[in-house]
Formats: sequence, structure tokens, C-alpha cells
Amino acid sequence: MLEYEGKNASTIFKSSSFKDLKIGVLAIQGAVSEHMHSIEKCGARAVAVRNSSLLHDLDGLIIPGGESTTIGRLSRLYGFQDGICALVASGRPALGTCAGLILLAREVENQDPILSLMSINAKRNAFGRQRESFETDLHIPVLGEEPFRGVFIRAPLIVSVGEGVEILGRFQEYIVAVREKNLIATAFHPELTDDLRFHGYFLEMALQKAG
Ligand code: GLN
Repeated sequence: MLEYEGKNASTIFKSSSFKDLKIGVLAIQGAVSEHMHSIEKCGARAVAVRNSSLLHDLDGLIIPGGESTTIGRLSRLYGFQDGICALVASGRPALGTCAGLILLAREVENQDPILSLMSINAKRNAFGRQRESFETDLHIPVLGEEPFRGVFIRAPLIVSVGEGVEILGRFQEYIVAVREKNLIATAFHPELTDDLRFHGYFLEMALQKAG
């Protein structure tokens, strides 16, 4: 049985094991090791993706937070973009957190989109100076009733979503977590909490695809 650490020991996930899953974390810049630890704590294997050749045999990919302009520029420079798009096109799941959300967005206010994979319109650094970083409890129904601690660091928000995008969570009136088919994006940082439910939810998607 999967053991969840931290305060959310009870789990809504059905899977007994994620141990055969290999999940990549795009390791260009940003919160890479935190995501790897969360994935490993869930019992799956985490790989730092420093080379695009590693993308083809992953069961899922996480695009971490950091600086989206830097991650975008370097992913273009080092040829990651085609591999990421191919992974997503194959149905394997991808999770973008914070800057990762910006990379996935089809539209980004006041700048060109980067990967353009998800029907969302993102606004960078949307919460303004007063609220550059903050934490708040979020209600994310797919994770169960217990609140999920949202850690927001110079976070984007999702201004609007296209057809087929499921809104997983809001902060006040703002959309901060979404799913579209095999893609998930969050404006906050689930890897900076000890709550593994978001990573567990993502691994469930990977398991369904791999199974
Ligand atoms: N503000 C950053 C950007 O626009 C995102 C911040 C983060 O990932 N924590 O890329």
C-alpha cells in the first residue's frame, strides 16, 4: 500500500504501487529536486531530464517552477520542445507548476507562448507586489475534502480556459489549477509541501496510460 507522508496520510488513490513508473522532471532550471523528492516519496522513479534523448521512455513529465523565460529559451536552444510535444501527443501525462504552467499555455499575456499545448490563457506574475509570495488553503475536489496548501511564488494565474479544460481549483475567483486530457497545470507549488496528493493524482494518470 502506498504510504503518504505528512499530514495527509489518508489517501483517495486506489493504486497500490507506482514503483514501475519513471517520471522525468525537466532539469533546465528551477525547483527540480523538490519534484523529484515528491515523486520518489510516492514510490515512483524520478529522473532529472537534462537531455532531450531521455524524454522518449518516460511515463510522464513534470515541468517545474522557475523562470519561464529562461526555461523556455533554453528548452528551445537545447531542442527539448519537439520531445516534450511528442510525449504529450502520445498521451503520457505532463504536469506544469508555476513557470511550467506558463510553458504549457497556448496564450500568455503580453508575450509569445512557449510550448502552446494547453487551452489556457496565462498571466505572469499576476498577483502583484503585495502578494508576490503567499500561502493559502485551496479546495481541490479531485484530491478529496481536505484542503491543499497552495504555495504561490510570483505566481501566474489562468485568465481563461478553452473548451475541454477542467478547472481543478480556484483561489478566490482566480483559476489556479486545471486539467485538459493528459495535461495538468498549477499556479502554485505542490512540491514545496509535504502533501503528496497532487503528485499522486499525476502518477495515477501515468499509471492509467502505462497500464
Ligand atoms: N514568475 C515566474 C515566471 O513568470 C514564475 C515563478 C515560479 O515559477 N515560481 O516565470
